[in-house]
Amino acid sequence: MGEQILTYTLGQKLYLNVTNRCTNNCLFCIRHTPGGIGYNLWLEREPSVEEVIRAIKDPLAYREVVFCGYGEPLMRLELVREVASWLKKRGAAVRINTNGQANLLYGQNIVPALKGLVDAVSISLNAHAEDVYRKVCRPVFGEKAYGAVLEFARACVGEIPKVVLTAVEWPEVDMQKCREIAHGLGAEFRPRHFVGG
Ligand code: SF4
Repeated sequence: MGEQILTYTLGQKLYLNVTNRCTNNCLFCIRHTPGGIGYNLWLEREPSVEEVIRAIKDPLAYREVVFCGYGEPLMRLELVREVASWLKKRGAAVRINTNGQANLLYGQNIVPALKGLVDAVSISLNAHAEDVYRKVCRPVFGEKAYGAVLEFARACVGEIPKVVLTAVEWPEVDMQKCREIAHGLGAEFRPRHFVGG
C-alpha cells in the first residue's frame, strides 16, 4: 500500500489512522486544513488488521496507543476490537478518540463490545446544544446525532475506565456549558484548541 501513513507519533503517544470516513463534517476538522497535523493521513485504501498491527511494531514503546483519524475510528468497529485486543494482550494502554455516534450508526449499544479492550475513550462533544452541534459538526444523522453522542457518553461511563468529553474552542460553543454537561454525565472534560486554519 505504498507510502500510506497508518501510525504517527505525537509526544510519547502512538496514533492509529484506520479510516478517513466520518459521520460528521465539522467546520474545524483537520481534514479541511491544507497541512493537517504535518503528516499526510489520507488513505488510498483502508488498512487491514494485519497491516495496522505490522505498522505499530512495539506497542510498549509508547505511553498510550490511540485510535484516531483522519476520520472516525469506530466506523471500523471490528478492526478496532481486533487491534485493541492485540494491544491489551501486550499490556499497552489503549484510547479511542471518537465522535460518539457509533451506537446510532450501528443501531445498538456497542460499548459492551469495547469493554476490557479500551482504557480510555475521548468523545467529541463539541457543542452545548443540539442546534449548535448541527451547525458546527454538520452530522449526516442530522438532529438525531447530538442526543446520540450524549447517550454514548452515558453508556461509556462505568464501562470504560476513563471517559473524557472534549470540545474545540469555537465561537458559537459555550465551553463552560460543555464542561457542565460532561460532569453531569460523570465524565471528565477537556477543552481543545483549534489547530487548523
Ligand atoms: S468528528 Fe472528527 S474526523 Fe469527523 S469531521 Fe469532526 S473533526 Fe473531522
